[in-house]
Amino acid sequence: ALSSTSNIPGVRERTLVAVKPDGVQRRLVGQIIQRFETRGFKLVGLKMLQASEDLLAQHYASLNRKPFYPSLLRYMNSGPVVAMVWEGHNVVKSTRMLVGDTNPAEAKPGTIRGDFSIHISRNIIHASDSVEVAQAEIALWFRRSELMEWECCDHGSVYQL
Ligand code: GDP
Ligand code: MG
Repeated sequence: ALSSTSNIPGVRERTLVAVKPDGVQRRLVGQIIQRFETRGFKLVGLKMLQASEDLLAQHYASLNRKPFYPSLLRYMNSGPVVAMVWEGHNVVKSTRMLVGDTNPAEAKPGTIRGDFSIHISRNIIHASDSVEVAQAEIALWFRRSELMEWECCDHGSVYQL
């Protein structure tokens, strides 16, 4: 089914992105999705959910000793989030660059955090920080059946055929 996908290494790389509760409240979901679409990445998973404490504890397990961890979980559990999986060449690193620095005060204008947020405690978006972490986070947030295998009609224009 994916026979026309080019041989460029890493074109099937995937990353987990989540618009956090503050981004949903502030009606930024559409603008955020648009940045990934216009860049040329392919959407392969999308859902709105209220993340459970259990999911968030697993998602942020590596931060559980940080002083801000309890407030981070309360923040992430405070309302619905929009989780998505984006696919494309180098998508993990490119997404981190699109998203900008964790601290919006350091995030460059033109990045999502740099354009739409001010404080580290409300930085509107999550993105996986490595290919390995992305695979674990996608498995945590999405069932296999929720991830779409589909061919983008502009594939040969975004990549080399
Ligand atoms: P990210 O990968 O850029 O999201 O950053 P981290 O993985 O280091 O931290 C995860 C999330 O925890 C960040 O996006 C922030 O929402 C939150 N966070 C990180 N550092 C701080 C901090 O110093 N204070 C507060 N309040 N939140 C933080
Ligand atoms: Mg992180």
